[in-house]
Amino acid sequence: MFWSDSLLNKKKCPLCHSTLENEYHHYITAIRSGKEITTLGVGNDYGAFCPECPVVVLDRKGFERAVGGIVKENPDWKMSVDLSFVVIGIVNMDAVPEDQRHLPLGSDSNPIPLVEFLREIDTANKSKSRHGGNRLSGNQRRRRR
Ligand SMILES: [Zn+2]
Repeated sequence: MFWSDSLLNKKKCPLCHSTLENEYHHYITAIRSGKEITTLGVGNDYGAFCPECPVVVLDRKGFERAVGGIVKENPDWKMSVDLSFVVIGIVNMDAVPEDQRHLPLGSDSNPIPLVEFLREIDTANKSKSRHGGNRLSGNQRRRRR
């Protein structure tokens, strides 16, 4: 997974230079506001996928808008506007059996088929410094789940 703003050309795959294709998908994000961490599912077409390799480039501005908008619409979550988030992975809707697609994802009988992203190291480091180093480490994330 790459953030679009870490790439010189966000229309091309950073590994094989194929032209990326935008697709609508559901993602699981972890939002951190102060000490609170909330996981949130969002569906959008801000992900551009490489047809040749398992690369996805996420539009950072798009995700920031989407996540910020959802937080704003839910004042009862009591999350400040000053939040940071990570996109944990993509929900593989195709893996949900057809007779279960009407059920809410994440219930006991219908677990979320989450495909976790691998982070490109430089991208991770870069975003870490931008957010003042308050991103979740992998360990923290696992503990909260
Ligand atoms: Zn590629």
